[in-house]
Amino acid sequence: MTDKEALKRRYALERDKRLRPDGPLQYRRWEDGRPDPFTPVTPRPPKRDHVTVAFVGGGFAGLATCAQLKQAGVDSVRIVEKGGDFGGAWYWNRYPGVQCDTASFVYMPLLEETGYMPSEKYAHGPEILEHCRRIGKHFDLYADALFHTQVTDLRWDGDHSRWIVRTDRGDEFTARFVALGTGPLHVPKIPRIPGLETFGGHSFHTSRWDYEYTGGDPLGAPMDRLRDKRVAVIGTGATAVQCVPPLARDAAELLVFQRTPSSVDERGNRPTDPAWFAEIATPGWQQRWLENFTANQTGSAREDLVMDAWTDLARRARDRIRKLPRTQLTRDGINAAYEDADFEKMEEIRARVDTVVDDPETARRLKAWYRQLCKRPCFSDEYLQSFNRPNTHLVDTDGRGVERITATGIVAGGVEHPVDCIVYATGFEVSTPFTERGGFDMTGRDGRLSDYWGEGMRTLHGIHVHGFPNAFFVQPSHGARLIANIPHNLTESGTTITGIVRHALEHGHDEVEVTREAEDAWMELLLGSTSNVGSADCTPGSYNNEGQDSGPRRAFFVGYPQGAQAFFRFIGQWRAAGTFDGLEFRRRD
Ligand code: NDP
Repeated sequence: MTDKEALKRRYALERDKRLRPDGPLQYRRWEDGRPDPFTPVTPRPPKRDHVTVAFVGGGFAGLATCAQLKQAGVDSVRIVEKGGDFGGAWYWNRYPGVQCDTASFVYMPLLEETGYMPSEKYAHGPEILEHCRRIGKHFDLYADALFHTQVTDLRWDGDHSRWIVRTDRGDEFTARFVALGTGPLHVPKIPRIPGLETFGGHSFHTSRWDYEYTGGDPLGAPMDRLRDKRVAVIGTGATAVQCVPPLARDAAELLVFQRTPSSVDERGNRPTDPAWFAEIATPGWQQRWLENFTANQTGSAREDLVMDAWTDLARRARDRIRKLPRTQLTRDGINAAYEDADFEKMEEIRARVDTVVDDPETARRLKAWYRQLCKRPCFSDEYLQSFNRPNTHLVDTDGRGVERITATGIVAGGVEHPVDCIVYATGFEVSTPFTERGGFDMTGRDGRLSDYWGEGMRTLHGIHVHGFPNAFFVQPSHGARLIANIPHNLTESGTTITGIVRHALEHGHDEVEVTREAEDAWMELLLGSTSNVGSADCTPGSYNNEGQDSGPRRAFFVGYPQGAQAFFRFIGQWRAAGTFDGLEFRRRD
């Protein structure tokens, strides 16, 4: 029988240990002067032309939106991407073991349209990157794409109802519409650890993996150059959980520096059986799977097609709620059922550590003490097992983090650990202002986006911003905010944007813009809901602004109050109505 009160006290104690006054400021950007280790930059003349749609970002947001635009007959579509190819997060993250934590059948967009069967339930990074290229080729998005190109300025030209796009490659072209899908996971960050610059060995961030130094490749070839190296990994989030096993296999010694343990549930990966796939892949299959996964996460569903650890917690909570007597079907009763399901789930995850890790002290330190969704849940059948290898050592800092870096090693708990190489698995900027992360500001009809969002992000549906006509944002906030399957958010936004662009073009409208009233009403709905208040009980991390009150930036962390399934239904009906409520379409004369 779980002692709930004791668990809550333990969770609070562990959280308090990690709260720190500098919050997100404890980090800074990772910059190593190697802009792109994967693709050489090709010289090209600057663009001085006009396109119908310019999309900033060649990750899933850009691919899913532009593919749908092309399908709808909008031919003049240009993606501007800072990497050397499509892929976004999957372009940069080529660390060993890189894999998707969400089932490929729902995670990889446009499978049905491209006729592709993922080879595994949880596809590895190289396959996902290849799928990005497949989408690019299938929808003819390469022809007009600009790679290794960063937008430096976007400026609304009200006299001509178009955007002027400037880039770091000298381009200056115009676009009738612009869309931004710059993603949340593209600016690597590292902790401001004293002495970091003095390290005399080699170091890199996981999203800029240095195979030159390690040997091996993203497909899993052994990192033979680490055979005589002492390697440190700082961080134990979703990335570290994936790259620690191959490092443990290949390095002479591996030291994993932990501040907060991740919850590591079973992975249960398996190859796709083509006969099974042929059976399920009937017309409309991927949409059915998407809706089913979302319903299992955030709504109600009779069956669970994906059946994995993501949907497990919601399944347990629903089972408990179903058994509640009528009198307890209150907000408190339902919250208590969720809490019980969470306690049960986390107790199982902690118990699993004991069954997998041989050394009891290491097992004790690898246990996560918080509610499962306080931090990004992790899934692996190899990570915990790595600590049974004699060359792999957990350096637990008991919530304090690495103390110092010297010329030759890492200091934690007053002990210096000599290492040859430091791998920073320390994540990405998440809560910095949107315009800083994107690397450029936008100047709309009345001023800059950074000013307009100075008191927090404001949109309608997460897509439209008043004062920024013919501009669209493709990202999860203010919409479904479905964390377990980010591409689903992006694909839905792409569908919405495609409908709007097509309507504007077909009816000869020069401009489309959300009214201030509609934007106000949407923000009131989002910010007025208690379900959108982040849990102060959670251990600090990227999900809760490192445990600090985010002030006006709280608006960045909110989604549709009734959840993702309800949002997708709502926006589907909004699109189907064809009235585009809240938007104003205008002709110039
Ligand atoms: P995270 O931000 O999740 O993790 C950073 C890690 O660094 C944490 O363990 C953090 O500890 C640790 N850390 C930070 N500072 C210090 C310090 N001073 N000393 C010791 N440790 C420190 O980054 P990830 O790259 O792991 O993941 C980022 C996101 O990428 C995930 O949230 C997920 O959305 C995505 N991802 C998605 C995958 C997929 O399958 N689609 C796969 C991998 C990643 P603490 O927890 O205490 O802050």
